[in-house]
Amino acid sequence: MAGTERRLRIAVIGAGAGGIATVIRLRERGDHEVVVFEKAAEPGGTWRDNTYPGITCDVPSHLYRFSFAPNPDWSHKYSPGPEIQAYMRQVASDFGVDPVVRYNSEVVSATWREGGWEIVTTQGPEGRFDAVITAVGILHHPALPDIEGLDDFAGDAFHTARWDHSVSLQGKRIGVIGTGSTAIQVVPAIVDPAEKVSLFQRTAQWIMPEPNTPIPDEKRAAYRADPGLLAGQYDHLAQAFNGAFCAAVAGEAPDVYERMAQACRDNLATVADPELRARLTPDYRMGCKRLIVSSLFYPAIQRPDAELVTDSITRIEAGGVRTADGRLHPLDVLVLATGFDAHHPFADMRITGRSGRPLSETWARGNVTYRGVTVPDLPNWFMLGGPNSPLGNFSFLMTAERQLGYVLQLVDLLAAGKAQEITPLEAPTEAWTQALKDRLAGSIWASGCRSWYFDPHGNVATYPWSYETFEAEMKAPILEDYALAT
Ligand code: NAP
Repeated sequence: MAGTERRLRIAVIGAGAGGIATVIRLRERGDHEVVVFEKAAEPGGTWRDNTYPGITCDVPSHLYRFSFAPNPDWSHKYSPGPEIQAYMRQVASDFGVDPVVRYNSEVVSATWREGGWEIVTTQGPEGRFDAVITAVGILHHPALPDIEGLDDFAGDAFHTARWDHSVSLQGKRIGVIGTGSTAIQVVPAIVDPAEKVSLFQRTAQWIMPEPNTPIPDEKRAAYRADPGLLAGQYDHLAQAFNGAFCAAVAGEAPDVYERMAQACRDNLATVADPELRARLTPDYRMGCKRLIVSSLFYPAIQRPDAELVTDSITRIEAGGVRTADGRLHPLDVLVLATGFDAHHPFADMRITGRSGRPLSETWARGNVTYRGVTVPDLPNWFMLGGPNSPLGNFSFLMTAERQLGYVLQLVDLLAAGKAQEITPLEAPTEAWTQALKDRLAGSIWASGCRSWYFDPHGNVATYPWSYETFEAEMKAPILEDYALAT
């Protein structure tokens, strides 16, 4: 078999940004049979699931695009969620992704048996695949708060990723729990229709001001007419975001870091009431939690019909939220902007590798991967957006494409018959994991705050090196670090 071309049967899990890119790029590599399993009824991943008022991508639009589908028509510097979802659908349609997606087919198990992955979905057994590429996303399991009485609430309550659009907000008393990126976008968007918004804050945030300017028609026409101009804008933003921002949080650009922190402090200084300003002042270093980008939040929370509640929540009752000062905050609608479980990407699947041991057991005390992309004991199992992928304020599309470039080189080895099974070796996996832990221990994320970056065992889910290091790592696999079985 060695040296011959093989037509591979490849399962892709998830039809979000990563899955869409995978199908398109795989098609360029050869005539493989590709099947995408998608739990929902349409593509788009996070942009399909998150439809809350005010949803906007806080990564600049021109950075948030597939390299093979540049988009001259973004409406704003930071485009609204529905526009991004429309882009996802358009790309899936234009590039013929839809026909290979099996919608409403959630993978429930993947079992390595006799040289292949046997996949079972909610629709039943799907057969055997030579390789699996997972693109399940990072933030797709909503985390509900562990607050007494949540089920007792008599009004409408929902998580931001499950927004109930049948509930009118007009004239309602709306409570929002949480002050992450999501809540900070929701509050300015609902304060107009609401009678009153009560924002329950457990931790104050660092907030970078950034007006969301529309992109004028003439500019869009210029981008349309000159792809070089569009590419130049991309390069400029990539340098600003990945070069400067990533380097700053990775501890490699102290001057940039200080400029960013000062911009946040100056933003906070616009809050007129010193008492409110004090309660909005974070007590940890900028970048420890994911940096929030908004020019709308401080004006919104200073309105007379908005209240920042900093007394801790003791319980939820039929009529509203009770806080530690004994006060009941009467509410009609309760919005849970309480984030996601980012640490159990395969929580709904039973994955069993070569040893017969379920991955959930192997990962019981933390996810261990080789460079975030492959896993010992899981042959031909490749991950986009896997554990310790670059997270935070980056374009996930860029990250996923880099990882895909790496994965496709391994897929090519399978296709060329140079290997039947590709699995990372234990020793390089341990070495990489140790280097990761050492670096994370001294990182900004471990400098003294609580965030979704931490798993329940204290492991940090982010990537602690510069974006350039990530790109270099993803340029080509180090084949000596893999067992290539023929
Ligand atoms: P998050 O950042 O994890 O924030 C969750 C919030 O809920 C925190 O303020 C947390 O308080 C609070 N919370 C959780 N449990 C609570 C409880 N029991 N009682 C009181 N408060 C509680 O979640 P998110 O805002 O959904 O954002 C998650 C990530 O999604 C972001 O960091 C970002 O990566 C991504 N996102 C991106 C965009 C974008 O524009 N690109 C927009 C939205 C989200 P503590 O801070 O005290 O833990």
